[in-house]
Amino acid sequence: MDADGIRWDKIACRFCGTGCSVLVGTKGGKMVASQGDPDAPVNKGLNCIKGYFLPKILYGEDRLTQPLLRKKGGKFAKDGKFEPVSWDEAFDVMAEHWKVALKKDMEKNAGQPVDKMTSSVGMFGSGQWTVWEGYAASKLMKAGFRSNNLDPNARHCMASAVGAFMRAFGIDEPMGCYDDLEHADAFVLWGANMAEMHPILWSRLTDTRLTKKDCEVHVLSTYEHRCFELADNGMVFHPQSDLAIANYIANYIIQNKAYNQDFIGKHVNFTQTATDIGYGLRPDHPLEKAAKNAGKGALSKISFEEYAASVAPYTLEKAAEMSGVPAKDLERLAKLYADPNKKVTSYWTMGMNQHTRGVWINGLVYNIHLLMGKISEPGNSPFSLTGQPSACGTAREVGTFCHRLPADLVVANPAHRKFSEQVWKLPEGTLNGKVGYHAVLMHRMLKDSKMNTFWVMCNNNMQAAANLNEESYPGWRNPANFITVSDPYPTVSAMAADLILPTAMWAEKEGAYGNAERRTQFWRQQVKAPGESKSDLWQLMEFAKRFNMEEVWPAELLDKAPEYKGKTLFDILYTNDQVNKFAVQEVKDSQGNVYDNDEMADFGFYPQKGLFEEYRMFNSADNIIKKGHEMAPFDAYHTARGLRWPVIDGKETLWRFREGYDPHVAKGEGVKFYGKPDGKANIISAPFEPAAESPDKEFDLWLCTGRVLEHWHSGSMTNRVPELHRAVPDAVVFMHRNDAKKRKLRDGQMAKLQTRRGELVARVETRGRNRPPEGLVFIPWFDASRLVNKLTLDATDPLSKETDYKKCAVKVIKA
Ligand code: SF4
Repeated sequence: MDADGIRWDKIACRFCGTGCSVLVGTKGGKMVASQGDPDAPVNKGLNCIKGYFLPKILYGEDRLTQPLLRKKGGKFAKDGKFEPVSWDEAFDVMAEHWKVALKKDMEKNAGQPVDKMTSSVGMFGSGQWTVWEGYAASKLMKAGFRSNNLDPNARHCMASAVGAFMRAFGIDEPMGCYDDLEHADAFVLWGANMAEMHPILWSRLTDTRLTKKDCEVHVLSTYEHRCFELADNGMVFHPQSDLAIANYIANYIIQNKAYNQDFIGKHVNFTQTATDIGYGLRPDHPLEKAAKNAGKGALSKISFEEYAASVAPYTLEKAAEMSGVPAKDLERLAKLYADPNKKVTSYWTMGMNQHTRGVWINGLVYNIHLLMGKISEPGNSPFSLTGQPSACGTAREVGTFCHRLPADLVVANPAHRKFSEQVWKLPEGTLNGKVGYHAVLMHRMLKDSKMNTFWVMCNNNMQAAANLNEESYPGWRNPANFITVSDPYPTVSAMAADLILPTAMWAEKEGAYGNAERRTQFWRQQVKAPGESKSDLWQLMEFAKRFNMEEVWPAELLDKAPEYKGKTLFDILYTNDQVNKFAVQEVKDSQGNVYDNDEMADFGFYPQKGLFEEYRMFNSADNIIKKGHEMAPFDAYHTARGLRWPVIDGKETLWRFREGYDPHVAKGEGVKFYGKPDGKANIISAPFEPAAESPDKEFDLWLCTGRVLEHWHSGSMTNRVPELHRAVPDAVVFMHRNDAKKRKLRDGQMAKLQTRRGELVARVETRGRNRPPEGLVFIPWFDASRLVNKLTLDATDPLSKETDYKKCAVKVIKA
């Protein structure tokens, strides 16, 4: 407590995967201030503009405080108007629809093996869930409803990074950490606008660039953005040609015999991927039909010579021609990577992940680092940055992807299912072995009436999903479906739902996030949520009380666990002796300040602690199928400014896979990629393939979408902060002045953007912070009054199922 009566406490910022620690001040039950946390190793006392205005996101004028159900004549009606209802009525109506779908599923699945089970219920979450909310959701869907139709919006964000980590290293998440920012001699940005999306990391990078002798910054992008202001070598490439650039660099390293022979001899396997894998569109889509769609992306081993031959066609001349980047700039980049005396850290985000060959391009950058042995040591790091605050901690680590279980385990593997059933105390054969519907498929399945109930938390799908007009909106308003949205504000998604549940935000509950460098951070509940709002954890657990086991599991499964008969899903999932073993306790900080924990008060035990400790069983050294994910005990995180896993004997791990840093690499082993059975990483050969849709005579420009510094994703929170809204009130279309001139458009005039799927009107900007080359326009997607995703194509990377929001064909005319 300070002299003004303000209680200060640490909390993880709820925006962006950087994972800054923020000090927040509360007084009289309200959050009144925030400042950078001087003890935070990530941000060292700084915040970005979003971090400084964090308290204000709680107090938007239109905050939802009661459940709202569409009704007509006193009853639920799909075409009714929203009316306030009690939580009881909300959950009664919702559970009624879920029970109809679950009954239908049970009948359909009778006698089917678990890997053939289908499901018509679905849930969508995000890396903005706390760690235990994602874990509780995963348990509810996968163990309770026996459905793998659970996906996070990390599918739109990180799935390609996940796919590439698993293919190359057999274990997810970066081997390096943010300390690389001070150790590297050079940085290469591949499709990452860090200045706006990871501003605090950009400050650290800038500091290194400006203070370290000969430090260099290379920036690759399809348009110039703020990072180009610091770039020593800024390169604007034609969309999709990053595949050719990365292969050219590998070719340069081989042709010049610069590769690290000792490293690749000991630690690397050479493989190639099956190609022509299509674009993940509906099978009858003309672009999907036009693709050869022959391979499934499987890997096969090749020799070094075969790998060298596969990259040989990517000469400097060819790469320069394909990318449009001057040859001298490409060569300078290749020389940097090939220099054994330069420590290089590569960063990427959505420019590489949102890509129809996202897994490949992630892998091609790993290839470069592996060829040189520039990996897993201070300053030498291929590093995939995450978008959301807990894309790693929640979306990836606790198993909220439709193909995953906690700790990198997957539903399709019988041994992984068996281990998970043991941890969760489920009879053998409970878990569904069929991979569920991923994000894009969920909307298609809703439209086709194959999925009938859908619950969305922490996400604004009706603004964020691609191809809104053709797929998403029709799916949500399909009369066969019941859609629930949990949100603190009446977002575009909430208003397209049938039931809206008011949600407690970030500081209104005890929480945990895991950031991009494997750092898990906890915070205490700081203030109470308004009205009847409840946390997502409370909602998941309360909803589970509505289901008797007989309504969700078939008799033959219950016969294997007769003690579960007559109980509810809540009893089985959330009050077993693992979750319910931590009694109500006073939550206090080191100064003796006492904090609320509303869930503990409501349930009569400490669910956050119980769920986290149970989740740790997936990661514990005694019990794991795959080592390397160990977490510290729950209480350790409330005192630390986060810890980077694996945490062994209280010690965090900064660089993985290298002796001296990673406790899983024994003395004398040097480097060991222990996610793979033979301890070796995969260099994977993959060629250039074109984008799903490219400009043509009619739709003659590339359309690229993205974010801005001042707004978080769809702007549903930051647009309610007056200062942030005023700073960037609406989305403008950034275009080259020659493209504008050709269309008789001037700065500030309104232009109409049209694609084959939809259109919108936006103001033209030719001189702003983003400067596209001729032939490409960029528009951010935070503006709910301009739904950019009415225009985008729902093409995905067929391996990761991640959407490509960066490339489709658009026409721009005067509005
Ligand atoms: Fe929050 Fe990201 Fe800004 Fe840090 S950089 S204060 S985590 S939004």
